[in-house]
Amino acid sequence: MAKPSLRSRLFLSHLAVMGVGIITLASVGWLYSPRLFVVSLERIEGYGISVRQVRTQLIQGFEFAWTRGMLWSVLIGAGAAGGLSYWVSRRIIRPLDHMEAVTRQFAAGHLSERVPPSEILEIQRLANSFNRMAADLEGVEQRRRELVSDLTHELRTPLTIVKGYLEGLGDGTVEPSAELYQRLAREAGRLQRLVNDLQELSKLEAGYLPIQTETVNLPPLLHSLVLGFADQVGDRPIEIRLSAPSDLPAIKADPERVEQILVNLLGNALRYTESGEITLEAKAEPDRVWLAVRDTGSGIAEADLPSVFERFWRADRSRDRNSGGTGIGLTICRRLVEVQGGEISVISQLGQGSEFRFWLPRAFPDRKR
Ligand code: ADP
Repeated sequence: MAKPSLRSRLFLSHLAVMGVGIITLASVGWLYSPRLFVVSLERIEGYGISVRQVRTQLIQGFEFAWTRGMLWSVLIGAGAAGGLSYWVSRRIIRPLDHMEAVTRQFAAGHLSERVPPSEILEIQRLANSFNRMAADLEGVEQRRRELVSDLTHELRTPLTIVKGYLEGLGDGTVEPSAELYQRLAREAGRLQRLVNDLQELSKLEAGYLPIQTETVNLPPLLHSLVLGFADQVGDRPIEIRLSAPSDLPAIKADPERVEQILVNLLGNALRYTESGEITLEAKAEPDRVWLAVRDTGSGIAEADLPSVFERFWRADRSRDRNSGGTGIGLTICRRLVEVQGGEISVISQLGQGSEFRFWLPRAFPDRKR
């Protein structure tokens, strides 16, 4: 059996309340009014006015008037109350009906649909929750679409290059050379980086990241990183410098993860700097060690700074795609810093350069100060 709708329930409940009201009014009136009328007649007689001859007519007249009055009151009252109840039920139900229509539209893929505001507090709250959820889902869907389109593009470019060269090598139209194999290896490396980034990201999203913290002595790591990156500068006029005190205290962290963060930041600095300086700086505070990668590169617009650590965000999509960026690196960096108990931030000026800095806890905090 079909369940009655909320509108009919509301309407019926109003009618039921009204029915009980009318029955009570009529019964109490029916029981007491004639008696009270007789009592008032007796009181009038008590003042010396005789109503004995017309007493029966008076009582009948009163009963007739009372019944008629009651009948009209019930008819008009019930009509008015019924109409009002119908209107109120509609007013309450209409936003719910609307919400249901919006939900259906939303489920059908119209993710920009939102529930309009309502003057009923509870419904407004429900609408707010729905709209918040809708905005979140729209964001997720948007990012998913972007991810698929980015991935497709990201995968297609190196695959097309590799396929083209391999076919050329196969049918003899391309001469094998060391340079060609290096190019192929570079493209394969790009694919590998993408797959690694995605794997890392999926672990991050699942909340699973193996972190093995230990006491890490930073200077050897920082030196080897600077040397490694100096080799990658190529013929660009870039100087890579290390600025760290010789007595830099040890930190409590996972050395592989710290290296991963710094490789990412230095890699970005190198990617977005044409000339000038890239500085890897380390500074100690009583309970933490600050690490910063500063460059004199392209910089990031102020409006873009809050998005820098977001997944798949890139300042200039086409440029970064050519330079091999995936837009995942900084998201991973932030998560890695956070799971090791630190914080990461960025300051940057468009055309001037950027500084990514983060801190990690010291292995043996200095309690003297
Ligand atoms: P990607 O793999 O694209 O570099 P990241 O998450 O590491 O991904 O960086 C996201 C975006 O932030 C980059 O695409 C770039 O637009 C910007 N960015 C990151 N580091 C720098 C930097 N040192 N200088 C200028 N822009 C940067």
